[in-house]
Amino acid sequence: MTAAPTPIAAPITQDVLTIPRKAPVGDRVNLVGLTRDGLREALIAAGTPEKQAKMRAGQIWQWIYQKGERDFGAMTNLAKSYRAQLDEAFEIAVPEVVSKQVSLDGTRKYLMRIAGGHEVEVVYIPEEDRGTLCISSQVGCTLTCSFCHTGTQKLVRNLTAGEIIGQVMVARDDLDEWPRPGEGSGERPRLISNIVLMGMGEPLYNFENVRDAMKIAMDGEGIAISRRRITLSTSGVVPEIARCATEIGCMLAVSFHGTTDEVRDRLVPINKKWNIATLLDALRVYPKASNSERITFEYVMLKGVNDSDEDARRLVKLIAGIPAKINLIPFNEWPGAPYERSDWARIERFADIIYKAGYASPIRTPRGEDIMAACGQLKSATERERKSRAEITAEAGLRG
Ligand code: SAH
Ligand code: SF4
Repeated sequence: MTAAPTPIAAPITQDVLTIPRKAPVGDRVNLVGLTRDGLREALIAAGTPEKQAKMRAGQIWQWIYQKGERDFGAMTNLAKSYRAQLDEAFEIAVPEVVSKQVSLDGTRKYLMRIAGGHEVEVVYIPEEDRGTLCISSQVGCTLTCSFCHTGTQKLVRNLTAGEIIGQVMVARDDLDEWPRPGEGSGERPRLISNIVLMGMGEPLYNFENVRDAMKIAMDGEGIAISRRRITLSTSGVVPEIARCATEIGCMLAVSFHGTTDEVRDRLVPINKKWNIATLLDALRVYPKASNSERITFEYVMLKGVNDSDEDARRLVKLIAGIPAKINLIPFNEWPGAPYERSDWARIERFADIIYKAGYASPIRTPRGEDIMAACGQLKSATERERKSRAEITAEAGLRG
């Protein structure tokens, strides 16, 4: 079974490859990433009688997403002959771990290989009361934010839904998080309690695949992570923002980073297409925004660029009326980066101004810095082909 390729809707500034969303690997169709309906249809196409298909799809779904099973032969509530039939037509394939690094602070960074030999990075961040998995939506990114390592990677392609949810499944394998035989759900605390789409790529430029994958993550008969514990971060793809609420229902974070168009144009070039006023208009009418479901404004702290008292005051003025919290991210450096992290005292002063204006203003603790796993440091090691420092500096509108 093949599906039509999903084009990337972004203004394409780098090489972009697309592959079918649900590409069969070898001759067998991969079931991972299909929606419930898609799974049912695939079973019918492979000879499952229509009358049984819904029930069979439900059973197989639970094996794959609730128990983490990859072998049809072990699906004991299905007839042996049917298991053999499934094995001939289908596979349960997830990305392959190429390497794993564990930081001194416990953060784990995985390099995962997907079809075509491309690689994406996935980061697991354990905290006292929760664990967050940071997943990727694209190989590289078509956008070129000047402070982001991923934005310097030239090769880009959209991930399939299977490759997106596959990252969660592989991390669960590594953390030994699937229920053990005889173990009920909820017996052990969840290691992956939260998912953030903050790895490589712009999730709203790969909307359908991200949506299908997150629906699987939220499904109560599967991985079962609440929609409120999943956050999609966008650089500001205005026409797609509302769909995050209406079609996925997860939480929204917006990479704001600048309080004037002049500065934001340089940091987040998509601002030239949809500027601050247009972005804020979209957020003001965002379907799900409420005091219990605030929009997160991410703000990277860059020394001497966007970190003045005036910026902080302008920021709170701009977002007035939007149920919001502001997440300050100390800049994470990478080789050749044209910026420096703001001093700690400056970040605290900035946070204080925002806090006094009535907004929560947590400062994100950099995690996994020793293994380059922090926000914005991700970039496949095998795709090192990078823009030169001069190119990055020129694009950032800075003097070399
Ligand atoms: N493309 C999406 C999601 C991935 S980036 C987006 O841009 O929102 C996740 C977050 O990390 C974004 O807020 C991004 O601006 C931030 N980020 C990127 N590079 C960074 C860096 N070097 N230091 C700190 N934060 C960075
Ligand atoms: Fe892409 Fe986000 Fe990095 Fe910008 S910050 S280049 S949108 S991954």
